[in-house]
Amino acid sequence: MNVLVVNCGSSSLKFQLINSETEAVAAKGLCERIGIDGRLVYQPAGGEKEVTEAAMPTHTEAIKMVLDALVNPSTGVLKSLDEVEAIGHRVLHGGAKISDSCIINDEVISVIEECCDLGPLHNPANLMGIRACMDLMPGKPNVAVFDTAFHQTMPEKAYMYAIPYEYYDKYKVRKYGFHGTSHRFVSKETIKFLGLDPENSKVIVAHLGNGSSISAVVNGKCVDTSMGLTPLEGLVMGTRSGDLDPAVLDFVCKKENIDVTEMVNILNKKSGLLGLSKGLSSDFRDLSEAADNGNADAQRAIDCLCYRIIKYIGSYAAAMNGVDAIAFTGGIGENASLVRETVVNGLSYLGVTLDEEANKTRGENKVISTPDSKVTVAIVPTNEELAICQETAALVQK
Ligand code: ADP
Repeated sequence: MNVLVVNCGSSSLKFQLINSETEAVAAKGLCERIGIDGRLVYQPAGGEKEVTEAAMPTHTEAIKMVLDALVNPSTGVLKSLDEVEAIGHRVLHGGAKISDSCIINDEVISVIEECCDLGPLHNPANLMGIRACMDLMPGKPNVAVFDTAFHQTMPEKAYMYAIPYEYYDKYKVRKYGFHGTSHRFVSKETIKFLGLDPENSKVIVAHLGNGSSISAVVNGKCVDTSMGLTPLEGLVMGTRSGDLDPAVLDFVCKKENIDVTEMVNILNKKSGLLGLSKGLSSDFRDLSEAADNGNADAQRAIDCLCYRIIKYIGSYAAAMNGVDAIAFTGGIGENASLVRETVVNGLSYLGVTLDEEANKTRGENKVISTPDSKVTVAIVPTNEELAICQETAALVQK
């Protein structure tokens, strides 16, 4: 089945056309600067990247340009749009009402709308993408794959914040977790790849990219995850602070004479690796290179990143009362051997030992612990687009 996978951000739209049986990507690309001026980058499989500048006032025009590119007589990969059999949308927030991917109908649209205040940047953009596809390809099934859904199996003790209960009652303030599509995909792959018992397994997935999160998965079900009400909680990320004492907000706001909204923006956009490195970079590769050349600011950022991962893995091993496997994924998890080495060496009390040669691997399924390690550690690349394609096809074919 040909599935068009669509991932809408506030001013961008990423897409891939994937065949769910062969897993082949026929074409991919992105629209940028939607609502500003507009730029489409389109690349057919095996072909050159094409860049087209054109006005894209809304996501509807952006999707229209993507569809036109897909059927373009010279560089398109489809004869007609009839060949697109379903559309899979990445949707950020499904709140507490949605615990799985679903075929989009009026009810699902209202839930995505209701969750706009929980995902103010993404949910409105996701809705625009959904509506644009419905308008331009009427009658085709659209599926929503939620970032929060996989984490809905967390028990109350893991998702509740210890604040007055009325905030949960009135506003559903709780931990939701994100990157769920990746955590679901990678935990499943890890169980399969390592031959673990799906009904008797404890897996920790460390998804480390620009945004990073970690999850504890028992028998294929998420029992805890590091991101919270929003993606700000948890690990040290590219530009997000992750965990901190909430009193820091009041303290800094008073000192700097700024309001909470501005401070939260700073915690999202100017903190994490970028903040710790005194503004040097939010990108791990830049920091790694700078640290190799003796830059202490870059080294500080990397040390804090690794330390927080070690602490979370330790706490999730404790939360699950044991761990069988740890999987590294995401741009940093799949590629940065230094981070994996530092983290694994910090877990020797769990009986984990690193196979240094295997740890040189990048971007493919690979066990990186020694055969006698008490916990198996592996690189398991994520593929969120493929996961969305598979979930879409499975629902549509039901
Ligand atoms: P996003 O969260 O935007 O999807 P990615 O999963 O692509 O992010 O991860 C981006 C991060 O991965 C960046 O910090 C980048 O420096 C890092 N990264 C990508 N490739 C490598 C590499 N070869 N070695 C080390 N780090 C890498």
